[in-house]
Parts: sequence; structure tokens; C-alpha cells
Amino acid sequence: MYPVNEVFETIQGEGSHCGVPSIFVRLQGCDVGCPWCDTMHTWELDPANQVVEIEVMQVDGSVGRWANLSAQNLADRLSQGNYQAKWVVITGGEPCMHDLRPLTHALEAKGFRCQIETSGTYPVLVSDDTYVTVSPKVDMKGGKAVLTQALARADEIKHPVARQAHIDQLDQLLADIDTSDKSVCLQPISQKHAATQLAIDTCIQRNWRLSVQTHKYLNID
Ligand code: SF4
Repeated sequence: MYPVNEVFETIQGEGSHCGVPSIFVRLQGCDVGCPWCDTMHTWELDPANQVVEIEVMQVDGSVGRWANLSAQNLADRLSQGNYQAKWVVITGGEPCMHDLRPLTHALEAKGFRCQIETSGTYPVLVSDDTYVTVSPKVDMKGGKAVLTQALARADEIKHPVARQAHIDQLDQLLADIDTSDKSVCLQPISQKHAATQLAIDTCIQRNWRLSVQTHKYLNID
């Protein structure tokens, strides 16, 4: 069973698949503790906030409510629902607190392709065809380390950047990782000018990609 906070269809706003129509499945629960987190309502899996499953099949991320859905139930609901997208983004919270193999296999059996977005602090357990985005969260309040297994499995490494120290952190993380088959992206934190300029300059120097959170500029979910 997976604790689902919300399901909604929108456009992927960031990373290499920016602009792709996507169904977002947001799972409840995260103990990583990023201070800038914009989904803090997903952190706690409070039994008092458990609801019936139909309530999470719509956008309402303002509260920490969640419902337990099985992989098959969720895949059935997405395939039978009024969705056009065939790309499913499993996010959180921290989705890799769960073994995502049953869910990604069930979704693929219904004709969907899956992407996950993870902090890299839990083992990545997904289908072979899942596109894995690791946004490494280093030295956060939860005290969790970024795992080599997660970085090695990543198709995309998307690093939040505000200052040079974050680039240095990424260099350390990637020191022993073969990135030749990966897309490395820098994503400015908080849309601040200095962070954006640093990210642009570094991307040009390293031949990395810039990831802009376009959904924040467009003011969409
Ligand atoms: S890993 Fe994601 S959900 Fe968890 S605290 Fe960090 S930004 Fe928020």
C-alpha cells in the first residue's frame, strides 16, 4: 500500500522533461528535512489525517491528508480516469521510502511510463524502465546521507543551487559516479537572480543543463 497525498494532471515544470503532460502522484511522508521544502505538508504520516481514497484523486496539497492505495488500485484509477497524459511522475514527500517496483510495474502494464523524483537518501527500487531523477539533498536536518546506489541509478541528477558551496557539494557527490549516461542539471533555489546566474555560468562551463522551475513562473501546480 502507498500513502497517497494527491493525484493531479499538469505539465512537468522542471528538469529534462519540462513541458511534458504528466500525472503527478504525490506520496505522503518525508524525513529529509530540507529547510526550503515547498511541500512540508507531506512530511508527516499522521493517522488522524487518513482519508478515503477518492479524496486524494484531486489537487488539494494544502493539508497533510493521505489515503492508502494499492499499486493495482492506483494504476486502475489512472487508466480509467479522465487523464490524457501517459507520463506519471511519482514524487513526494520522499517516494523512495517505499519499494516502488510494484507501483511502477502496475503503471507500465497499463501503458504508462514512470518518472520518480527523489532526494537520493533512500535506495531506489523501481522498474528498469523508470526514469529516475535524483535531486540530492545534502546535510539536511534529517541527517540522511545521499546514497551512491541512488546516484548510480539516476537518469538525471538535478541539483538545487543557491551558492558555490552547492556546486562543490555536487562535485563531491559525483566524484566516483560515471555521469556519461546521465543528464546533470542545476536548478536555482527560490528563483533568486544570484542563484540563477551562478547556475547559468556553471552550466555553460560544465556543459550541464539549466533546470528552471517553470511552474513557479507560470503559477501552476
Ligand atoms: S526531500 Fe523533498 S519533500 Fe522531503 S523535505 Fe526535501 S524537498 Fe521536502
